[in-house]
Order: sequence, then structure tokens, then C-alpha cells
Amino acid sequence: MRTGVCKLCRRTAELQKSHLIPRAIFQKVKGGEKENIARIEKNIGATYPPGGGHIKAELLCHECEELFSKSEKTVANDCYVFNGRFPLFEKTKSISISDQYRQLTLPINKTSRFIFKDDWNNVIDGNAFLYFALSIFWRTSIFYWPRIGSSYYDALGRKYSEQIRMFLLTQNHQYLSHIYVCAVIQTVTPLAVISFPTCTKMNMFCWSHSFFIPGIMFIMYVGKQLPDCIEGLKSIDDFSFLEKDITQSKSYTNLCETILTTPAKGKLIKDWISS
Ligand SMILES: [Zn+2]
Repeated sequence: MRTGVCKLCRRTAELQKSHLIPRAIFQKVKGGEKENIARIEKNIGATYPPGGGHIKAELLCHECEELFSKSEKTVANDCYVFNGRFPLFEKTKSISISDQYRQLTLPINKTSRFIFKDDWNNVIDGNAFLYFALSIFWRTSIFYWPRIGSSYYDALGRKYSEQIRMFLLTQNHQYLSHIYVCAVIQTVTPLAVISFPTCTKMNMFCWSHSFFIPGIMFIMYVGKQLPDCIEGLKSIDDFSFLEKDITQSKSYTNLCETILTTPAKGKLIKDWISS
């Protein structure tokens, strides 16, 4: 272990090897199989990742690593399991929406529904999902990760990565001004995939960021000019769940297209063709 400055608390300490995507989430994709996971890079092709595909870097001290791992465990236990159960969706299905929210006009169709804190509070540890999402966006942005390269490096910019760093340290929501996060639960055809964060510009002062873990797409809107519908949601809470069939959404179809059209290499060719 190397001594250095922890990126989160900024104390000098022995640094742990932190995962970009937590190991527990990888297990959900692998479904217990040793070689059941392929890494897809559009420019390079699809391969079995050497050494399990984990991307690690010395980022955090032991204490901060522990802070992160609490929410990681909760989310990993609730996300979709390859060819199996989806505990988060099983829980949200059982939640009935209270009258105060049922009457809201929300930017969704009839088959989708937002679930806000007052309703999920006794059923799901939603704070863990918010914390997890922000920790993944933050850690991907603040460091030039090997094998990911420059595509998301510094995507949050100095101001918002500092706000999120302070939130991750204190869990104080005052640091989330101009930031809104949603965990979209794939109600139809959940995919056992993991994607790294990407972002797109929505207007001069707003970016949307997203990534997938099995069964869940996390979306974050950041900027001082959030779309009106997002401002409306944020006025209720900084985070909510959304049950939605996202198979028609652009992010989902892009993801599927990438999976289907990226040529396989090496041992993977044989396995993909034979299956
Ligand atoms: Zn630390």
C-alpha cells in the first residue's frame, strides 16, 4: 500500500485500491460464473476481461473506502441478478403511491411512476442509492482511470465535483444544489450489464449524466438551468426512484446496439458463435 492524499477526505493516509465499479455489482452480472462477463469497448472490440475485469486505483483511505462500501452493499443486494430475481423491483412494486403525489403532473406516461421518499422510506434504503450513484459519478470524474481514458475525466467540473465530494463526506443535502439524481428501475427486460458513466449537454447550463448497473439506470442532472420538469421533481426531493419500461429510450437502445454490433475477439468469438 502506498501513502498519499485521500481524494475524499484529503488526509494523508495509506491508500486502498478502490474499484471503479464495486466488486459486488460485478458478481451480479457474472451470476457466479467465472467467465460469464465480457468487456465491450467500441474501438477495441469485445473480449473477456483479464483478471475479472476490475478497474482499480489508489484513491481513498481506509475510512473513506468503508464509507463507500456501505451503500455499495445495499445497492448490490437490491439490483437485478443475472437470469434471476430483482429485489429492488419486487420492493417498489409493493409500494402504493400516496395521494399527495398521485395528483402531481409528472413528465411520464401511464406505465411509469415516480416513487418519492415519503413512500419508499420504510421499504427501501433510498439514501444508499443516491449515495452510490453520486460516488460512482464522482470517482469516475475526478481521476484519469486506466482503460477508461479521457471520455469522462473531469466531466463534473471543479465546482460540482467539490459539491459532491462534500456531500459524500457529510451526507448533507445542502451540497446538492443544482443536482438531481434518479434511479430508473427497468420494469421490462432488465439487462445484466454495467456501463461506465457518460454525459450529454442538455442546454448551456445543464448536463445529464448516466450509467447502468444490472436492472437500474442512474441519471443525474447537473447545472444551474435544470429543465422545468427536473426542477419540479427536485422541489420534492434530490432523489427519487422511477419505475419505467426504458426499452424504447435512447440510452437503452444505444447500449443494446453497442453490445450487438461490437465484434468479439479471441476466446469470446468461439463462445459467442457457439451460443
Ligand atoms: Zn479519506
